[in-house]
Amino acid sequence: MLAVPEALARILAEVTPLEAREIPLAEALGLVLAQEVTAHEQHPPFDNSAVDGFAVRYADGPGPLELIGEIPAGTVPDFRLEPGQSAAIMTGAMLPEGADACAMVEDSRKEGTRLFLSKPVSEGENVRRAGEHLKAGQVVLTPGRVLRPGDIGLAASLGYPKLHCIPKARVAVLSTGSELVEPGLPLAQGQIRDSNSYAIQAQILTCGGLPVRMGPVADDPEALEPVLRHALEVADVLITSAGVSVGDHDHVRPLLEKLGGQLSFWRIKMRPGRPLAFGKAGRVPMFGLPGNPVSSMVTFEMFVRPALDRLMGRTPVRNPARAVLATEFSKKPGLTWFLRARLDADGRAHPSKNQGSHILSSMVEADGLVVIPEEAERLEAGTEVDFLPLTYS
Ligand code: AMP
Ligand code: MG
Repeated sequence: MLAVPEALARILAEVTPLEAREIPLAEALGLVLAQEVTAHEQHPPFDNSAVDGFAVRYADGPGPLELIGEIPAGTVPDFRLEPGQSAAIMTGAMLPEGADACAMVEDSRKEGTRLFLSKPVSEGENVRRAGEHLKAGQVVLTPGRVLRPGDIGLAASLGYPKLHCIPKARVAVLSTGSELVEPGLPLAQGQIRDSNSYAIQAQILTCGGLPVRMGPVADDPEALEPVLRHALEVADVLITSAGVSVGDHDHVRPLLEKLGGQLSFWRIKMRPGRPLAFGKAGRVPMFGLPGNPVSSMVTFEMFVRPALDRLMGRTPVRNPARAVLATEFSKKPGLTWFLRARLDADGRAHPSKNQGSHILSSMVEADGLVVIPEEAERLEAGTEVDFLPLTYS
């Protein structure tokens, strides 16, 4: 049995980032950038007005000035300002030659073609100079950055329709079990609803991955094999749910091996979630998550989330917060426990009463997971513990 950190280290050692490719700008949010973004042109590209008002020569003073034209945004003025002249100009419109300042509408008065300034303007006032934001050749974004909305906007303003990024991982989700029924269909005796695949798909979305749904499939090798084969062809990662234990109807592991997968099967020293299969088929990492709903979600958090981070080019770091146990907790040594717990306003963690790996409502109530170390036996109320928040933002 592997300890949790060793299992994670082995997984991360086998997972490498997906190959970067061109991604349309509108789809690049949250992806890891794999190129430099450079201003090929200066920005702003030309001197322009910061206000709706009048282009003037500041040395002319308050006027009266002769109004000789109008410059809407997006046009090129076909005149130059001589001493004593001015022109109406809109925000973002190109400054005419000869102009060196802009007066705001609010500080000006127009009488026919004569303009009076109620407030003098200084040189360069209300003018946005070409290149004052970015010089041509300037690097604005570097590889490794997780793209944020401002980055997308800046890339657009510099003329990039696409960016070279590490794409979203396509993650096949295949729940297995002859007892499983889709929500919305009637339950016969002995059946339960497939909840794992829905929780797993939601977790994948919170990682920025693309779930590819493929189940549920019965515990029948003939039914499972073609679906597994298809999943390995179309996905970057395969997640199966259940059927990886030692039961007579647990077919997933032998089938993955039959399809070329190299499996390390671990019973990880953790609760919930002991049985977890990890391996690779060619370039595709495979996770066989345990069937119990809480085990499935917790092992996803501990192992699949960091692997998807690595796959999508992010650094998998999970710094635990600290919390104080609100109640005493006892267990046998040998397994790391992850207790679903609610945090109160004083930072005290209240573990859910029922920590059974089938009690999915404990995941609903929990703000996070309290980590009870492998060798710990009894922790008194008031003990400081690691706390892994279950927040998805
Ligand atoms: P297994 O890993 O196949 O031994 O399953 C362990 C437990 O998890 C059993 O009680 C299963 O019925 C349950 N289980 C398996 N798959 C799912 C699923 N997709 N949704 C909810 N419960 C499941
Ligand atoms: Mg089963």
